[in-house]
Amino acid sequence: MDTPITKAERVVSAGKGIGPKENMSLIEDLAKACGAAIGSSRPVAETLQYVPIDRYVGMSGQKFNGNLYIACGISGAVQHLKGITNASTIVAINKNPNAPIFKNCDYGIVGDVNEILPLLSKALDTGEKQPAPPMKKIKRATPKKEKPDYTIMVCDGCGYEYDPMVGDEANGIPAGTPFEKLPEDWVCPECSEIKANFEKA
Ligand code: FE
Repeated sequence: MDTPITKAERVVSAGKGIGPKENMSLIEDLAKACGAAIGSSRPVAETLQYVPIDRYVGMSGQKFNGNLYIACGISGAVQHLKGITNASTIVAINKNPNAPIFKNCDYGIVGDVNEILPLLSKALDTGEKQPAPPMKKIKRATPKKEKPDYTIMVCDGCGYEYDPMVGDEANGIPAGTPFEKLPEDWVCPECSEIKANFEKA
């Protein structure tokens, strides 16, 4: 659990969302269950002092380079996110669905650490752990970006063509806006036909 952050294959990390200090046992249990080292956000090490200062991820030189990073109650400050860019897989657990960490993770669980961490620990607990074999770095999964739908839509009323690449500047629609992203009250700029009366070109 005290493997240096930079050398750890897996890290379970606590943020301020972990709550009172006794909740660190939830982090320890999960770290044990998945054979991970313990990390933290900066405030948890520096301000709350739940863990030694060298456990926090994101300070210069404290970059996580392993395979699995589980961020528990971490909102995802920029410095912290910089410390986990090399992680192969990032799991985030946070009560706040708008936490920035969710934009930077592979798996996000919106929930209370008090509820989620024991469930994960139980699910991952395989009893006494054997010494870990040397780490095999897993390649980071790169999700296929879905191609935006740039279908041209034609007005049933007048034949006006809405081209997403062009948009509808006169009505405040910037170029690059797909048809389905147009406001519901958007109408044909030529004949005021409603959105529902457009068809694929
Ligand atoms: Fe029209």
